[in-house]
Amino acid sequence: MTSDAGCPTMDKADILSWLRETDKTRLKELWRVADQTRRKQVGDAVHLRGLIEISNNCVRECGYCGLRAGHKTLRRYRMSADEILECAHKAVAFGYGTVVMQAGEDYGITGPWLADVVRRIKAETPLAVTLSMGERPEADLVAWRKAGADRYLLRFETSDEELYRLIHPALPGRPSDRIALLRSLRTLGYEVGSGVMIGIPGQTYDSLAADIDLFRTLDLDMIGVGPYISHPATPLGSREWKREVPAGQQVPNTELMVYKVVALARLVCPEANIPSTTALATINKATGRELGLMRGANVVMPNLTPVEYRALYEIYPAKACIFEDALTCHGCLKARIVSLGREVGVGPGGRHGSKTGTSLDPNAKM
Ligand code: SAH
Repeated sequence: MTSDAGCPTMDKADILSWLRETDKTRLKELWRVADQTRRKQVGDAVHLRGLIEISNNCVRECGYCGLRAGHKTLRRYRMSADEILECAHKAVAFGYGTVVMQAGEDYGITGPWLADVVRRIKAETPLAVTLSMGERPEADLVAWRKAGADRYLLRFETSDEELYRLIHPALPGRPSDRIALLRSLRTLGYEVGSGVMIGIPGQTYDSLAADIDLFRTLDLDMIGVGPYISHPATPLGSREWKREVPAGQQVPNTELMVYKVVALARLVCPEANIPSTTALATINKATGRELGLMRGANVVMPNLTPVEYRALYEIYPAKACIFEDALTCHGCLKARIVSLGREVGVGPGGRHGSKTGTSLDPNAKM
């Protein structure tokens, strides 16, 4: 591996062999090339995306997620438009270029209501707006894009179709095809982000290699990956859940495996924006974020959700940063970035090289 401009020639077999690599010296080489590729392709700026978890209501029954409809004892909340706007103004005050609104698949959030919130954010602030609202009907995606939303995040979770169907049941009469949705989001003009969980029970090395290969095929603008973390109130978190895989084929949900996937994602999609995720920080609170940033990532997502709601957005237990307020998160993440000798990104920080926004350009508007 000598190239520092990404590895267009890396095929699925190469990806698979890196996922299985145990030699420390070789892994150091992987980290070095991923970091060098990151610097060359997207620079030293670490972009901050302020995360607003706007609702924990959900109609889905995803087998892995603590927000699933069947989790009856979870207290549900939905933020008001004014509360969301207040968070957006905080993002501006902290110097962030983007807010990310994320929620369970909540039809109490109607298409026109969220379009109005997006319009207000775009009218009152210079922020780029990213949405992560699940598998919404095309009419909603069109309305939100028209209202000014710039980007959409929808992880395909796993490219293993059988495993996907098991962990992500379709809604009655509406087959779930996230790959097709990602393609239509692109057609609508969104920057498109996706990703997977790492170490889902039943996930094989082969399928994880195929996931990474699919990142490249989809030419993703953003790639978010993190460890699968078991939630006791979900089917996957219960002891009964089993999906047999051949011996030696189960991917572990370890920190090391996450770094490998972050590094390989950087190599197959050199220009992508890649966050060092909260799930990674959850399994290594001391240095997870930093190591992600040193091994291919260039984005972090400080949490702007009001403290009273944070613990309720419990997609998995013991999530990092649920007790800190937005100001504390902001200071902590900034200090971590500076400690690495990196700089805090300015402006919307859209996909590098795209005409919709370049890093470090405060006047770029998407
Ligand atoms: N409703 C939106 C947002 C879901 S939460 C959607 O479905 O896209 C965002 C991401 O959190 C999910 O895509 C999933 O990859 C991750 N997630 C959910 N449960 C998790 C768990 N138990 N462990 C790790 N990541 C999880």
